[in-house]
Amino acid sequence: MYWNAKLERLDPEALQELQLTRLREIMARAAASPFYGRRLQEAGLTAADLRSLDDFRRLPLTTKDELRAHGKEMLTRPLTDMVRLHASSGTTGQATVIYYTRADIEAWADLVARSLYMAGMRADDVFQNMMGYGLFTGGLGFHYGAERLGALTIPIGAGNSQRQLQLMQQFGTTAVHIIPSYALYLLNTFAQHGLAPRSLSLRLAFLGAEPHSEDMRRRIEAAYGVRAYNSYGLSEMNGPGVAFECPEQNGMHVWEDSFLMEVLDPVTLEPVAPGETGELVFTNLTRQGMPLLRYRTRDLASYDLAPCACGRRFKRLSRIKGRSDDMVIIKGVNIFPMQIDKVLMAMPEVGTHYLVELSRVDFNDQMLVKVEVQQSFFQEDLKYLKQLQKRITEALKSELLVTPRVELVEPNALPRSEGKAQRVIDKRS
Ligand code: ADP
Ligand code: ZN
Repeated sequence: MYWNAKLERLDPEALQELQLTRLREIMARAAASPFYGRRLQEAGLTAADLRSLDDFRRLPLTTKDELRAHGKEMLTRPLTDMVRLHASSGTTGQATVIYYTRADIEAWADLVARSLYMAGMRADDVFQNMMGYGLFTGGLGFHYGAERLGALTIPIGAGNSQRQLQLMQQFGTTAVHIIPSYALYLLNTFAQHGLAPRSLSLRLAFLGAEPHSEDMRRRIEAAYGVRAYNSYGLSEMNGPGVAFECPEQNGMHVWEDSFLMEVLDPVTLEPVAPGETGELVFTNLTRQGMPLLRYRTRDLASYDLAPCACGRRFKRLSRIKGRSDDMVIIKGVNIFPMQIDKVLMAMPEVGTHYLVELSRVDFNDQMLVKVEVQQSFFQEDLKYLKQLQKRITEALKSELLVTPRVELVEPNALPRSEGKAQRVIDKRS
């Protein structure tokens, strides 16, 4: 059940020991880069006098803006030693660039292989990678991992829905890697072709790249007849293969032998207790070319220390509750798009897509939620739809504490994206 039994079954004491050793190594390596050379010196920290993880916390956090402005100064070796670069999808601004040495690519492939193996993928699986290839890490990152595992890998990439179906049929695809909003969208294509996803050979789906709710997972599992596993990663920490669900489907194990994770209160920057939501901060423990120390992700989540039934002791990460930068403030109330997802996806009448539009009328914030309704319900009479609209409004109000305006729309009426879904359009500025 383990890809690397020794590392995956480390007990907490042995893990701490290993993390400290690797922290010293990575600090020494990072010190060779102009950026961290300066930073470590200013903090008065050297690898030699690092006694505990607490000492390490004296180092200031690395922000996304610093990465944008000084990325190349974070390289520990000349550019000629790098064999690949990836850039983040730029969801929240200008893209950040990450460089990899050959050893970094290998280590990353191993982490992804380990993740896939944990979730039950094997060499005899046929793996269709439906994530964008190119600068985005979801494509090549999974690709190398799946090949490392020995699975037959189909590098189709994102979009091209009809072709996706054809390939699944032709090659008997058993496992897919897919953006959750696209997985729901693809159901329309299946319907158009009169093809039932459950009639195919699919058994595993890896869902990543964007926040999604438990209900969304259950919908995907039911529609496709698969077990779906949450996959978390970010280009700054390689890409996918940072944290991944095991068959228990109860939180994502963080690969703590390769990443040091801190969960901090975003305001005080003090660590939060297990179960409390905080911002994720990561340090690469093994990277060669461009190690980042205490990188602030802006992703919000909580963690669980309890041992898992699968035998792994690594911390489990909750679903990502959102990014601190996609929180919106409406009428003074803080709202995360994920709260809306949770409410809507729990209602069987709601279709596969929704869109939130924020506007300001006479200095007043307005929130409009456009909700696609399932075909079978959309055909009901007007009275029924009015009632449904009212129920959705009430459910959103009790979760958000703000009353949105709800508009019901036909299935497929809202715009789609092949990449990360855009859920919120803010027209207020
Ligand atoms: P960008 O910040 O431009 O989107 P990336 O392509 O590196 O850059 O995407 C990484 C980000 O995607 C993460 O920081 C996180 O916000 C989001 N993400 C990745 N996987 C998941 C997941 N399983 N659940 C929720 N969010 C995720
Ligand atoms: Zn587990």
